[in-house]
Amino acid sequence: MKNLTSIRPNTSRPARLAALKQSFQDWNNTSDVMARLARRLSTTLSLEAQLSILAEEMTDMVPFDSLNYRHRIARQDFIFSTGMGGPHRCEYRLSLEGHQYGTLTLHRRQRFSEEELTGIEMMLSGAICHIRNACQFIAIEQTALTDSLTGIGNKRALDEALQRASAMADRHGAPWSLILCDLDHFKLINDNHGHVVGDHILARTAEKLEQALRNSDTVYRFGGEEFAILLPHTNEQEARDVADRIRGAIESIRVDGGETPLTVTASCGVAMHLTDEQPEQWLARADEALYRAKAAGRNCTRVFASIS
Ligand code: GH3
Ligand code: MG
Ligand code: MG
Repeated sequence: MKNLTSIRPNTSRPARLAALKQSFQDWNNTSDVMARLARRLSTTLSLEAQLSILAEEMTDMVPFDSLNYRHRIARQDFIFSTGMGGPHRCEYRLSLEGHQYGTLTLHRRQRFSEEELTGIEMMLSGAICHIRNACQFIAIEQTALTDSLTGIGNKRALDEALQRASAMADRHGAPWSLILCDLDHFKLINDNHGHVVGDHILARTAEKLEQALRNSDTVYRFGGEEFAILLPHTNEQEARDVADRIRGAIESIRVDGGETPLTVTASCGVAMHLTDEQPEQWLARADEALYRAKAAGRNCTRVFASIS
């Protein structure tokens, strides 16, 4: 084992502690721009917070009217903007070790001088590792919320979305509906045609659902062959119509199945959020409506009526 005393500096412990205290104070109160930028950026993994810090630190060095940042991370556009633009601009494609981490653009009324551009580049090179970490953090978070087979949200994403939707429905009093959609006799498809064909149908179903819905609606795969759709500003009658449209879209899927193309049907359960209802209760009511659709013979929609 290494003798620790041999690698200690030749100073007393109080002196070393005093030096540490001084170093800590310097680190916290440094007027060194790059050190302060790095320290502030390292306090957060939020890309939005990092860009705010970068904008703040940069504006001290090079005044600008607006900063815009854009990057596509895990199939989603991340956009950050401050201020209003001017006619002059400078634009940087941020990259590190061959990977792209977005485009940052500054606008203002006066031209940027060469010295200013060099200053901006120096600050960006001090920020790029932190921005890379924040981008990767978003990508990892996104992966944790995505179903790998279909690319749509998974059960965890649905749970989070139901929490948010319940809170918003209570706060704003706007109607929110939930549709649960379960493929009929799907086990038979797997048994007769194999899992690969089954997986292909699941992926096609997710695609069809996304195509059939409005941008504000969100789709999740929350079980094997079960999908959930959250619909803001939608009452139960409207949600029933959407559910029927969805079933039509699923029925239109054609998959090569030997002699005749394979088709699949789905059953849907609908429930509109009730005031002060917990997400689990809301989900349970939609599940009950789905159960009734299955019991009624499948390939149909049932609504858990909010007023009986
Ligand atoms: P029902 O009409 O009552 O819903 O009948 P079902 O056969 O669809 O329902 P059941 O719950 O009996 O079986 C669901 C089947 O879904 C069983 C399983 O083989 C299949 N499944 C679940 N997850 C996956 C998956 O990731 N890939 C494939 N290919 N099949 C899956
Ligand atoms: Mg099923
Ligand atoms: Mg099922």
